[in-house]
Amino acid sequence: MTATNERPTGERRPRIGSIAVRVALLGAASLAAIVFRGALIAWFTGPFGAGRAADDRTPAAAPTAGRAAGSSPGSDADHVAYYTCSMHPAVHAAAPGKCPICSMDLTPVTREAERAGVIHIADDRRALLGIRTTRVVRAPIDLTITAKARIAMDETRLHDVAIRIAGYLSDLRVSATGQSVRRGDPLFRLYSPELYAAQQEYLIAGKNRGAMTAGDPGERLMRAAETKLRLWGVGDDQIAELARRGEPIERVAFASPASGVVVEKTVVDGAAVTAGQRLFRIADLDEIWVEAEVYEADLHRITKGTPAAIALDYLPGTTFTGKVAFVDPYLDPASRTGRVRIALANRGLALKPDMYATVTFQLPLGPRLVVPTSAVIYTGPRRVVFVDLGNGALRPQDVTIGARSGDLVEIASGLAEGDVVVSAGNFLVAAESRVRSAGAFWEDRHGER
Ligand SMILES: [Zn+2]
Repeated sequence: MTATNERPTGERRPRIGSIAVRVALLGAASLAAIVFRGALIAWFTGPFGAGRAADDRTPAAAPTAGRAAGSSPGSDADHVAYYTCSMHPAVHAAAPGKCPICSMDLTPVTREAERAGVIHIADDRRALLGIRTTRVVRAPIDLTITAKARIAMDETRLHDVAIRIAGYLSDLRVSATGQSVRRGDPLFRLYSPELYAAQQEYLIAGKNRGAMTAGDPGERLMRAAETKLRLWGVGDDQIAELARRGEPIERVAFASPASGVVVEKTVVDGAAVTAGQRLFRIADLDEIWVEAEVYEADLHRITKGTPAAIALDYLPGTTFTGKVAFVDPYLDPASRTGRVRIALANRGLALKPDMYATVTFQLPLGPRLVVPTSAVIYTGPRRVVFVDLGNGALRPQDVTIGARSGDLVEIASGLAEGDVVVSAGNFLVAAESRVRSAGAFWEDRHGER
């Protein structure tokens, strides 16, 4: 019920408006017919009423023409609604003549111009009101997209240290997370009864092998034991040392498989470990990932290789530059953002995982039709500019805007290159247009409140 109640009210408003306009026009027309009959004949037959109107209509048809204005808009262009002074917009005269205030020639305002919201403001008055104009130009613009981002570890540079055999740790060299290690550095020693037994096997097989032939069973046993040791993580140099010593190593040293920072540590010195247990995670932070959250609407503009500038609150004044390495093929359903990854070299480990950053993508859009952002008036869902038609006339024009770039905004439709638009003082112009014009432009549109 609410919907059906509201609908007619919304529809009624413009109807009342147009009736009011029509009544006003009729009033004006009949008044004009009485007072300025001579003048009226003059403009119907004169230069303003040139062409078809002059041929078709007789002076007596004047009031009829006024009434028919709403139903046949095609002929409105030829009809003068009133005469005004561009210095004194309050002056409304039904006939041409001089302004009673400044004696300037009055300018005609056609019905079409009146309906289109056209107003006249002379140059002197423009200066007074601070109205400035600018030409619509085609200029190269950039689209700037900014996104919140987070520093993350490069997943390809993560290494886990897992133990493949059960035993007991000793000589733990990594005392805490955050410690840096280098590839090959000893991390810990492991005593493992199984590992000890395997070494013994290896040594006994070595002692028992006969002639150094490939088919020798002793040789085969020795190779099998060696493979077992290697698979458990014992290095070649340690196997060589074992052969040299001729005695098993009780606590075998294990070295770091990578350089980086220990970011996870699950054991302490002396811990008993089981086969498959992860002891450490080592992250190589020489290169890190910047993971930017880009809104769905902007996501299609960003592809692999798109240049990005990264700034951090933590490092004011420093901007890192990189290129997009990867765009996630899915969105975060909660934030409606897609993750865009930029790989960055991390000199001096200045960038730390989980830091926040702001990523800016500057995308060149090529030459576009642009006006200063100040030229566009936002009124409800509409975007309006004032076009300077010359001779003091300013006409409001609906436009569709595109990308913004600094203090320029792209005009996707509604203007042509070379058009002159109001770039300053346009709110005063809009206010005057609303007051002066019959209101058709400002009210006779759907959706506007
Ligand atoms: Zn005047």
